[in-house]
Formats: sequence, structure tokens, C-alpha cells
Amino acid sequence: MPPELMPAAVYIGDGRIAVQDRPVPVPGPHEVLVEVAQCGICGSDLHLVLEGYARPGTVLGHEWAGTVVSCGAAVSGWEPGARVVSNPTPGCGTCRPCRRGRPSVCLTRAAPDYLSFGGAFCRYLVVRADQLLRLPDSLSTRVAALTEPTAIAVHTVNLSQVASTDRVLVTGAGPVGLLTVAVLLARGVTDITVSEPQEVRRARAAAVGAAAVISPDRLPAPALGRPVDEPFAIAFECSGHASAAESALDQLDFAGTLVFVGTGRDLPRINHNRMIVLELTVLGAYNYDADGFGPALELLASGALPTDLLVEPDDVPLSGVGEAMARLAHGEIAGKVLVRPEVTS
Ligand SMILES: [Zn+2]
Ligand SMILES: [Zn+2]
Repeated sequence: MPPELMPAAVYIGDGRIAVQDRPVPVPGPHEVLVEVAQCGICGSDLHLVLEGYARPGTVLGHEWAGTVVSCGAAVSGWEPGARVVSNPTPGCGTCRPCRRGRPSVCLTRAAPDYLSFGGAFCRYLVVRADQLLRLPDSLSTRVAALTEPTAIAVHTVNLSQVASTDRVLVTGAGPVGLLTVAVLLARGVTDITVSEPQEVRRARAAAVGAAAVISPDRLPAPALGRPVDEPFAIAFECSGHASAAESALDQLDFAGTLVFVGTGRDLPRINHNRMIVLELTVLGAYNYDADGFGPALELLASGALPTDLLVEPDDVPLSGVGEAMARLAHGEIAGKVLVRPEVTS
């Protein structure tokens, strides 16, 4: 039997997080109780906490993997001990986004609550049984916490329509940029340049397999209406910084594509003249492909991604979530930080 109370990392306002006891949720008939093994810290968690958007009292964290503890009375096909992640809800299949293969922005989904996400910076979660995906035997539960951000990276790469011969620029080598690089490499895209101001992150991007890593100040300014000397077909903006987005657009070749992946508070100025003359495309990638998390799980289980470089080696306890967020925001950490929902006294 699970205990009645569990520790949770709770947003308490003013950009701060505190560990508090919360009641362990009770699964309904069609739900299961999951014990969270690890939950990654997402860039969106950073924005919600450090920029103070989140609602005080919220438990954040949505990049989790865990183990089923108990099942509701009407649940079949699942048992305690099953290792799982939760798949996104399928779209309606008929609305305009669904018809375009983008069900995670389905028009009929419940209005997303951007101020509070899933809530897995805690010990136990209740999850709909029909959304569970079983982890492949070859995939550790810990690494499976990368499933959600990997699904986003796969979606991002798919939306970009990148070809394996394309010259690709990735701006920002934090957890999102590194995963994007890793997924591109797994797709056979090898000519990848990473632009990143922090040395620790440049070094990690090179280890993951970027062909070139540079400081953003080395990206050239283009001549009026002409591409730079060594332009890129596709740029993935993963830093969320306005200056990086503006510079990424400047590095594109004729008919190039800029994909916005990283969100940020400061808005870039888009040079529409350059977009017109070079016929550039700008698009945003936020969610998942129509087939959900299955392909991301398979990719992780295949061993094709260097997960030891994509994830920081030491998990942080619930009491360390606030500090880890600050360090991520300062660019001091390259890889994904995983939270292990135990409390160290
Ligand atoms: Zn996320
Ligand atoms: Zn739909």
C-alpha cells in the first residue's frame, strides 16, 4: 500500500520551489497509480518557475517514467510493477491540424493549461490506463524519462523536412539542442553546426557528434539580400534567445527553413525582407507526431542516441529542483537534469 502523504516539489511563487507533503492521489476505476522513477526538468518548467508564470501551489514536471503501483477496478492489461510512460491523447482525426498529421494541436483537445503542467515532481501520479505505454525491456526506466523530449525532437526534425545532405545549424546546446542534434544524427544528417555561447555546452555538443561547434559571435552578418558565404538549409533555434533567432534566420540559404523550438520572453525581430527575397520558411515545433511516443521509445531503446551525454549523470532530489533550474537557466548544465522524487534530509 502506498503511504497517504508524499513529498512534492511545489511552486510557491516568486520564482521559488519548496518541498511539501501532498496527499497520494487515488486512482479512479480506469486509472493506475504510478510511482515516478525520474522526471526531467523541461525548459517550459524553467520559464514557468523562474519567470514566475506558474500558479503558486502547482507541482510541475511532465517528463517522467515510472512503475505501476496499483490499478483501478476497471483496468485490464496492466499490473503492478509494469514500467511505463504516458502517451499523449490522440487527436480527433478529422479537424484541420489532425488532417495535417498534427493531432497534438487538435482543435478538439481540452484547452491546455500553460500555467501548470502534469505534476510529476512528486512520488506518485495517477494516469489514465488507456494512455500507458510499456517500456521495452532494453530501456531503463531512468532513460525512459527522456521519452517526451525525444518525441518532441523527432516531431521537430520531421516538421523541418530535413534531408540527410542538408547543412544544418542548431542554435543553443542545452538539453533541447543536444537532443535535436542526436535525433538528426540518428536520421543520417551529419553536417551539423552548433552555435552556443557556453563552453561546457559547446563541448557536449561536439561529444554528441556535431561536426562543428562555434560561439554565436562567430556567425557572420549577411550582405543585403544575399546568403552568407556558407549558408544553412535548415536552422533549429533551441535557445529561446531573440538574438539567436535573428542570427539563425540570417544564416539561411535560399529556400531555407528556420524552426523555432525554444520559447523565450524576449521576442526576436524577424527580417521579413530577407524572408521574401530568399523565400525562407519559419515554423514552430511544439508537440508530438501523430504516432505519439512509440517511435521515441523505440529510438531510445535502439541505443542509437548517446543518452549518457544527453542526461546529466547525477539525478537531483526534490529539494534540489530550484537550484538545478537556476543552473540550467544560466547555461551551466548541458544535458537533461533528472529529478528523482526522494527527499534527502
Ligand atoms: Zn518538456
Ligand atoms: Zn483533431
